[in-house]
Amino acid sequence: MRIDLHAHTRVSDGTDSPAELVAKAAAARLDVLALTDHDSTGGWDEAIAALPTGLTLVPGAEFSCRGAVPGGSISLHLLGYLFDRQAPAVVAEQERLRAQRRSRLQEMATRMAADFPIDVEEILAGVPADGSAGRPHLAAALVRIGAAESVADAFDRYLSSGGPYFVRGPHTKAPDAVRMIVEAGGVAVLAHPFGNRRGTRVTPELIATLAGEGLRGVEVFHPEHDERSRAELRSLATDLGLLTTGGSDYHGTNKTVALGGHLTPAEVYEELFAGATGGKVISA
Ligand code: AMP
Ligand code: FE
Ligand code: FE
Ligand code: ZN
Repeated sequence: MRIDLHAHTRVSDGTDSPAELVAKAAAARLDVLALTDHDSTGGWDEAIAALPTGLTLVPGAEFSCRGAVPGGSISLHLLGYLFDRQAPAVVAEQERLRAQRRSRLQEMATRMAADFPIDVEEILAGVPADGSAGRPHLAAALVRIGAAESVADAFDRYLSSGGPYFVRGPHTKAPDAVRMIVEAGGVAVLAHPFGNRRGTRVTPELIATLAGEGLRGVEVFHPEHDERSRAELRSLATDLGLLTTGGSDYHGTNKTVALGGHLTPAEVYEELFAGATGGKVISA
């Protein structure tokens, strides 16, 4: 079984439509694909309608959060699967985050205006009404005008959290987000806990706190985790009784990783969604 539990579309900061994503998942010989756009479920219906025979879709989203660590807080992402997308708390929080993502991008563009001819209104017009605007949209614009060689280069030079134009994005407190996903009948997994970032990273104490709120797993098999991070996370997961998942975090041409490049073990997949009540996996 080839199971990829982390992928994005144009509804957030990927470059494929939801229909293109599921077609590419079938072409990549995946058996199971989770759709996890940032702070939006706007791609679910199109993905379901276009689902190829033989592919199982796990509807989900990636939730923008912050978590407490000694001396402050850090940005972190939660993957939520099979939650009720109409749960009022989820609807309200995702709407809030998407609206604030737009104003945050406008703020960053204002800071960039003196240096780069970026038309943020045009960029935002290209983001679906129920979609999430993010820094990759600015990065792609910087590539188009020749100010950066690639999206990754644009992040390195201008857009990362230490960069000159950075404005912090909106978020939910991580323990609240785990509870919100669980209360909506879903399954919560901590995304790329040791992914690329400068400075402070997620602590074992924070993961334990989230486990106490009902977190079911940690994403171990991810492009930004080296062998050492994987080993560390597996031992943490064992200690806390968490499952160890994997996914490519595919973003189309905004990142270099291939769909299906990182996978979830079949036995983990079976166990992970056993308790979900907010939704079901979908097969064509
Ligand atoms: P935002 O949600 O606006 O804070 O932007 C974060 C998103 O930018 C992440 O979800 C990634 O998709 C993307 N991202 C972050 N760093 C990089 C990078 N170095 N190269 C490509 N994409 C990145
Ligand atoms: Fe992203
Ligand atoms: Fe993420
Ligand atoms: Zn992601």
